[in-house]
Amino acid sequence: MTSGQRAPTPETQRGPVTGSDAPERLKFDMDELLNCMHCGFCLPACPTYQQTGLETYSPRGRIGLMKGVAQGKLPIDEEFERNMYACLGCRACETACPAGVQYGRLIETAREVVEDVKRRRGRRSFTRHLVFKQFFNHPRRIRVAGGILWAVQAAGLQRVATKTGLVRVLPREMAEMQSAVDTVASPSERKRRPSVMAPDAGVQKAGRVGLFTGCIMDVMFYDTNQATARLLNKIGFEVVFVAGQVCCGALHAHSGEKVDAVELAKRNIEAFEAADVDFIVNNAGGCGAALKEYAHWLADDPVWAERAHRFVERTRDICELLAEHTPLPFQRRIEARVTYQDSCHLAHGQGVRQQPRQLIRSVPGVQYVELTNADTCCGSAGIYNITNWEMSMRVLDTKMEHVRRTDAHIVVTANPGCLLQMKKGIQRAGLADRMEAVHIVDFLERALGSAAPLG
Ligand code: SF4
Ligand code: SF4
Repeated sequence: MTSGQRAPTPETQRGPVTGSDAPERLKFDMDELLNCMHCGFCLPACPTYQQTGLETYSPRGRIGLMKGVAQGKLPIDEEFERNMYACLGCRACETACPAGVQYGRLIETAREVVEDVKRRRGRRSFTRHLVFKQFFNHPRRIRVAGGILWAVQAAGLQRVATKTGLVRVLPREMAEMQSAVDTVASPSERKRRPSVMAPDAGVQKAGRVGLFTGCIMDVMFYDTNQATARLLNKIGFEVVFVAGQVCCGALHAHSGEKVDAVELAKRNIEAFEAADVDFIVNNAGGCGAALKEYAHWLADDPVWAERAHRFVERTRDICELLAEHTPLPFQRRIEARVTYQDSCHLAHGQGVRQQPRQLIRSVPGVQYVELTNADTCCGSAGIYNITNWEMSMRVLDTKMEHVRRTDAHIVVTANPGCLLQMKKGIQRAGLADRMEAVHIVDFLERALGSAAPLG
């Protein structure tokens, strides 16, 4: 044994793990679990612990449960599943942890273990199969769903359903969230999208970007994707809408569907390799964190490891790239009080905190006000606000108390899920007459003069 290795103690030894669940239990990275020294520094940062005060709803408690399962001391049962899925996956605990415990990877494994065991026991729901196997893996089906949503909105049915209360035929969580959804792009508008957008005339060419458009992002926030391309054109980048790209796999990885997540990663790596771009740019903190995990997901694959590494090296959040090209050529002032809500996966997952703030502050006329606990989750967390509605709204209401105190006119975010959640939060807090939530790309574009000014 070298001096740096941990001495084998009864705790560090996994011990004999037997029984039919053994293959799943052995998936846990025991070294990573044992990095946790139970100090509890992460507890105040954890939104679900803040709300409940329960150890099993804290990072330390969840790691303890995972360790028990990994060592064969605890069952992989419904209680374990409930505790693992009550986690937002926000990774605030990673930022707080002095030992550098990679909690995000641990929770992904825990959910993978839960789903593997359920699959083997024949307890998987048909809805889950539909969502992950038959929908998110198929870009065309997502586009068709977007077309249907557009038709419903264009016919005024969404408004009628909301006014008449018909919307209540939907599950409560979806009925509540639909009020935060903006009008989506029409199928014909989407068809008109060029495959390449050239840099603005007279601007020195900065490089070639492959835009990662996302799956739901490209349906619900198509205009923001187009604005992202226009912003990049303004600072000299040629933008390619890369054919063959698919969902980033974040939702799959966070929901225990790791095999599918890895397959999606391979498809994206292949698609962007063929496009021969300098950078792979995204505008969704959640997607970006997943894209940057590809090297980890494929680290043990001899065919894909190096290709994944090269993919990650070129991947940037839009704020990272824009911040390198400041000052942006602003044409308009935005006379407003503005605050910023961090995307968890941008701040805790990618360490991108300062660049969005720098960009917002650089807009002429902006009075920037920092939001207390800006990097605490808003409760959106992928599909958490659908699967764990009550907890999601408790977390959101706490967030909105801080947002209200900023007295801001605009809450800027850098992730579509956060944007929808903040819109919902503004409605719930009764602030809709004086506050709006805006994606950072749309916010910057207003000051660049390519979009409508603030109302
Ligand atoms: S990821 Fe977020 S919700 Fe989950 S344990 Fe860590 S801090 Fe708590
Ligand atoms: S801060 Fe890190 S080491 Fe301490 S209890 Fe939390 S996860 Fe474990």
